[in-house]
Amino acid sequence: MKNHNHSSRIYLSPPHMSGLEQQFVQEAFDTNWIAPVGPHVTAFEREICEYTGAQHACALSSGTAGIHLALQLIGVGLGDEVFVSTLTFSASVNPIIYLGAKPVFIDCDASWNMDARLLRDALEQRARIGRLPKAVVVVHLYGQSADMGAIMTACNAYGIPVVEDAAESLGATYKNRHTGTIGKAGIFSFNGNKIITTSGGGMLVSDDKALIDHARKLATQARDPAPHYQHSEIGYNYRLSNVLAGIGRGQLRVLDDRVQKKRWIHDFYYENLAHLPGISFMPEANWGHANRWLTVISIDPEQFGVDRETVRMALETANIESRPVWKPMHLQPVFAQYESFNGQVAESFFENGLCLPSGTALEKADLQRIVALLRDISIKLESSAV
Ligand SMILES: *Cc1c(COP(=O)(O)O)cnc(C)c1O
Repeated sequence: MKNHNHSSRIYLSPPHMSGLEQQFVQEAFDTNWIAPVGPHVTAFEREICEYTGAQHACALSSGTAGIHLALQLIGVGLGDEVFVSTLTFSASVNPIIYLGAKPVFIDCDASWNMDARLLRDALEQRARIGRLPKAVVVVHLYGQSADMGAIMTACNAYGIPVVEDAAESLGATYKNRHTGTIGKAGIFSFNGNKIITTSGGGMLVSDDKALIDHARKLATQARDPAPHYQHSEIGYNYRLSNVLAGIGRGQLRVLDDRVQKKRWIHDFYYENLAHLPGISFMPEANWGHANRWLTVISIDPEQFGVDRETVRMALETANIESRPVWKPMHLQPVFAQYESFNGQVAESFFENGLCLPSGTALEKADLQRIVALLRDISIKLESSAV
């Protein structure tokens, strides 16, 4: 067997600058707009609206801040319940706790996203006992839209606002509409590992101008419009820096290329691995166009011969970073006391799911190194079985 140890490390999804970012950052320096407001912030907001079709946007220091503000502005507060996808990153849920509300977890369907039928049943059950949730947070996992038509129908029946956690899905669509722009509000993340990055940052979008105006106020310590510093409500320090917004503007110009490359990476893995016994891929739902932020496979240990962790560690030994699928929120010690509508589907994805390196700067040779290793594991097992 080849020794892969001496090759340079391959990361899961590292930042990928285009070169354009530095011009925008230089402009911020040249004009001394080194502040959490400024022309790049305003332009970045406008450009995100143009790209996604959202009406209004507020640039923030993180995607998590966006979820927090969206839920607060919807009116989520002490003791309220908020339904949220269980198969996600904890940042989808933490803001619910910040507000003193209680998450209720919803399992996923074959698209790996919130099961719309299960959501409808859960809402029906809650309506019967007069305890409807104040909001629903839907996650578009790994860059694929959830079944938004069915989810909106279920929520609209009870007038429950939907917040879209599109942190992973910028550039992905549901029936030609951008994820994040379908519910009451949506958020994007520009964290270092996302499809485009500002090193850290986020964006709240909505068609409700009053909501975005109020978010902008809350994000800047809730200053009243007065020449002196006057406050009538509690605010946060959540605005995006003008320097980082400059990075975002440069990144946004190559977003379509990044989506294309992510999809190409997925297809390369698929062509080279899908035929191996026990390997399956997170499918693309027919209702949308995924950005394939991460390529995710499922490893059936019975058929493949070894389990997900063995594969992950073999990759690690070869200096290749991969990552288990998100551990479902209803299994997290910190959320153990909260209710969950099923969860077995998410559990099985977690059990066997592995995210493969999907950085857009990866070259064919890197991908060949990764698939060769996975094939080696499979071939070794086959020959040892004879
Ligand atoms: C990254 C991520 C977030 C949080 O975004 P930050 O900008 O890091 O705060 C929220 N939800 C999901 C699903 C994410 O992947």
